[in-house]
Amino acid sequence: MGLDARMDLRKIELDARPRLEAARREAAAAPGAPDTAIIEGPPTMNGEPHAGHVRGRVIKDMWYRYRTLRGERVVYAAGWDAQGLPVELQAQKELGIEGPKSRIEEGGIETLVAECKRIVREYHGRWVEVDRLLGVSADDSAAYWTSSDEYIEREWEVLRRARELGVLRDDHAVIAYCPGCQTSLSHAEVSQGYREATDPSLYYKARLRGDRASLVVWTTMPFTLVTDALVAVHPDEEYCRIEAGGEELIVGRTRLEALADEARLGEFRVVSTVRGSELEGAKYDHPLLDEVPELARLAGGEAYHTVVAEAFVDTGAGSGLVHISPANGEEDMAIARRRGVEVFCPIDDAVRFTGDAGRYAGMFVRDADAGVIESLRERGALVAARKIRHQYPHCWRSGDALVWMARRGWFYMLDRLGSMTVDAAAAVEYYYEQPRNRFLGIVSERHPWCISRERYWGTPLPVWDCASCGEKTWLHSRREIVEAAESLPDGEGFELHMPWIDRIRVRCSSCGGTETSRERYVLDTWHNSGAAPHSSLGAGERSRLLPAPFLTEGIDQTRGWAYTLLVEGVILAGAPSAPYSSFLFQGHVLDRDGNKMSKSKGNVVGARDLLGRQPADLVRLYFLWKSNPIEPINFDERELGTRPYQVLATLYNLHAYLAQNSSYDGVDVSEATGGGPPDGASAPDRWALSRLQRTVRAVTEGLDACRIHEAAHAIEDYVINDLSQAYVPMARADLWDESDGAAARRRASYLVMARALRTVDALLHPFCPHTTDHLHREAFGRPLEASAWPVA
Ligand SMILES: [Zn+2]
Ligand SMILES: [Zn+2]
Repeated sequence: MGLDARMDLRKIELDARPRLEAARREAAAAPGAPDTAIIEGPPTMNGEPHAGHVRGRVIKDMWYRYRTLRGERVVYAAGWDAQGLPVELQAQKELGIEGPKSRIEEGGIETLVAECKRIVREYHGRWVEVDRLLGVSADDSAAYWTSSDEYIEREWEVLRRARELGVLRDDHAVIAYCPGCQTSLSHAEVSQGYREATDPSLYYKARLRGDRASLVVWTTMPFTLVTDALVAVHPDEEYCRIEAGGEELIVGRTRLEALADEARLGEFRVVSTVRGSELEGAKYDHPLLDEVPELARLAGGEAYHTVVAEAFVDTGAGSGLVHISPANGEEDMAIARRRGVEVFCPIDDAVRFTGDAGRYAGMFVRDADAGVIESLRERGALVAARKIRHQYPHCWRSGDALVWMARRGWFYMLDRLGSMTVDAAAAVEYYYEQPRNRFLGIVSERHPWCISRERYWGTPLPVWDCASCGEKTWLHSRREIVEAAESLPDGEGFELHMPWIDRIRVRCSSCGGTETSRERYVLDTWHNSGAAPHSSLGAGERSRLLPAPFLTEGIDQTRGWAYTLLVEGVILAGAPSAPYSSFLFQGHVLDRDGNKMSKSKGNVVGARDLLGRQPADLVRLYFLWKSNPIEPINFDERELGTRPYQVLATLYNLHAYLAQNSSYDGVDVSEATGGGPPDGASAPDRWALSRLQRTVRAVTEGLDACRIHEAAHAIEDYVINDLSQAYVPMARADLWDESDGAAARRRASYLVMARALRTVDALLHPFCPHTTDHLHREAFGRPLEASAWPVA
């Protein structure tokens, strides 16, 4: 018993860890129903945890310990995202499968799935290790896995509800597609991957039929000339017919001067002007028809290669005239649909042009850019081709530049939920204005959400097409599949994944035929994790524990997990209710100089490395103390040794001082309790106690309002400024005084300090569980009480 002369945080950690873990297990096993639950935002098991993850995990554990100290019974089960694109890509890499996706099927989907499972096991071990080192209370023995059969069946319930609500629809739509992963991506995924890119900025001529003038059209994707259907102008813009270099050109007024300069048109004069709306219906000749015979065939029809007036045209960019490729643009597709224009999409799964693309057949679409520009030049249709640097979306996983193209897919039509998602989001507490506004803005966009992915390792889409009658048969559970099965080659206990699910032949629900095949989609990995509140809890637990009172993840999850949780929660409820009542968005952890941590920069701080060098409590306190939780942190490991260390060292010395002196004077401080000041309390004693009350209030209010850093600063202020620098020097004057009065004053002072330190141990416990547990035990001979949170 007793405290060492010198604080050794590592030794303290080793001493306290088994006790804290036992206490956590005991709390989890206690009889009676839990009061509340943390729903873990499941990290993807394809990489090591790093400093950014540490911040989030520390905040969650802090909340768990705080609410536990307040006497609540909190369920905190771990959760692991074990399937989806990130894991698959990692497995593909480890297996050395390069090139088109078909190579995966050549090697067998089972091989890929086995590798995915191996990767998940490997990283799971590392995450659990980091949680243990950090003192995170998440219960891995009760963890949910997004890849488990039970979880998948519950996730299928979301689809059933979406169908009942008329929200789920399959459609040909233009979606963002990753050429590397060969799958479509959602809007949320697209917005996560904007990066600077260099692309062509092309101006070309399209001759108006029966006129000597040519339209000057602008595009940054020359390859889309192959799928060109219309040219759009703004209805209210003034368009100038100019004469330059002996020919007539049509350009928007707003950009005329700039364009003439950019395209080096030289001397020009405006011959006449016309409003955009008056150009509507004019026909033009596409300059490359001889290269793409199928496009020439379509151009023979009524609708193709016509000028249309559309208000979405940005008159401040390019020439004020843009071409419309329904196969390669969302807006373009919508315009084509409204006007009954056929979609021409000669592009295959590998994003290569098909035979219908004539001269460009077999080329990866973006590789056709140069050929298109060259052909325009040969035909005298090139006005200017330059390069621009702009922000362009890349795949959030593989880094490939995305391509927009028409594909079939399954969508949640979020507009069909009316105002329910927005109303649900508006009722949530976000603690800070800025993330609240950002999130509500995103939720109100209501873009269709593409939930189908053309991949393998994920929750299969449970719908079978009948070749005989065309009916779609939806089966939403193992039982429904088993009942509809014509044969079960792997028995009733088959795994609910590809390839096993596709070995089953089910009977068509309409004609009873067996010529059925499952649509070979899996669900978006974000759909997977977005089902967590529903899929990780049983029916009884759901009604008791949802909405979850406190979820927290990084600020990027406004388009990720927070969003998909909300949408799926509303679909399941069929009502404007979110599965969480508060959501704290955290700022990112950057490097010392404020740069994003990335593998390529080599500045990522691995969590295991960090915890190998630094004691857990110091790391925890640093992340909670350093800044407001929504602000980014410029992580500087040297700062751990400054104030955070000083707080712990001072608290340690105060405990040691009290233990040593009170036992020397024979005063038992283990029973010091609350209530009024002890007999014989001096003015400094009363002051220290009143400051203590103020600190309790500040910390409680800070934690309740997620002003976690303010709570940490209040403790820091009390320990260092009030107790160590003001109160102890005053009390110390009595230490060497042998008079009776001084002995009584010392006794009162010990009791005051004991009360202060016992209270601070409780206040600081959610931040630094190891140190506070150790100090409390050593100085007061007993553990912190289970519900020791002081009353303000
Ligand atoms: Zn990709
Ligand atoms: Zn049928």
